[in-house]
Amino acid sequence: MSLADILKVSAYPGYSEHHTGRAVDIGSPDCAHLTEAFEATREFSWLAEHAAGFGFVLSYPRDNPHGIAFEPWHWCLTPAPCKT
Ligand SMILES: [Zn+2]
Repeated sequence: MSLADILKVSAYPGYSEHHTGRAVDIGSPDCAHLTEAFEATREFSWLAEHAAGFGFVLSYPRDNPHGIAFEPWHWCLTPAPCKT
């Protein structure tokens, strides 16, 4: 693969949200892991409805501005707002 194609599906070394400790990849027994098929699972439906309530966002939705492929399994805890 070319570097450009690799960077569509994987972050540049050292730049993954997983390195922050805030990102998780979630799977389902109903589909292969780390595939777009996760979007059709009940687990994804639950996440789409409830994850924001726990502070998580889908980092790479379809057509995201980062140029990263759609990753319905990858969710990241957003930083807490600063308290004054
Ligand atoms: Zn991930």
